[in-house]
Amino acid sequence: MQALTNRLKQVERKPMSLLERMYLPAIFKGMIITFGHMFKKRPTINYPEKTRPFSPVFRGLHILNRDEEGRENCTACGLCAVACPAEAITMEAAERKESETHLYREEKYAAKYEINMLRCIFCGLCEEACPKDAIYLSETFAPADYQRKQFIYKKEDLLIPNPITDPEGYKKAAGNRVQLNANK
Ligand code: SF4
Ligand code: SF4
Repeated sequence: MQALTNRLKQVERKPMSLLERMYLPAIFKGMIITFGHMFKKRPTINYPEKTRPFSPVFRGLHILNRDEEGRENCTACGLCAVACPAEAITMEAAERKESETHLYREEKYAAKYEINMLRCIFCGLCEEACPKDAIYLSETFAPADYQRKQFIYKKEDLLIPNPITDPEGYKKAAGNRVQLNANK
């Protein structure tokens, strides 16, 4: 056979010694490596009981924001949907009625707001495009599911808890953002 390079090396097939045929040295070698790992610091954690701290620039699940009076910030301008490179956002606008001023901050609001998390690439452009501080990416994941339709997040799934009626839920959902706003 003609060699294509000069790196050809003939491999010698030596017969196995008695020790090698018993496989014991190889087993002990493997056990030493296994036991050695038992005394090393574990790189894994018991998720979900324990979680790792997120990077300050982590971008997770979206939150639709409210103001300090609990009114929805979103004015259904559509800028987030236009900015979204994955076309993951859809919405329907509605006019606010006189009796709804305590619910919506602006004269227009999103009657329907949906994000398809299977399309989303968590780039954060929707947050950057929003002129009303109405949407931001939080420090949570979209939980796993078996059905595609569960990944279409509706307005009810995305809205942050009301800071007036549920201050604890609001604080938990806002996470570091509350601290950041307080430091401003
Ligand atoms: S994070 Fe990016 S991909 Fe996801 S909805 Fe916002 S703009 Fe679209
Ligand atoms: S989230 Fe912001 S950018 Fe998107 S529709 Fe509402 S106000 Fe406009």
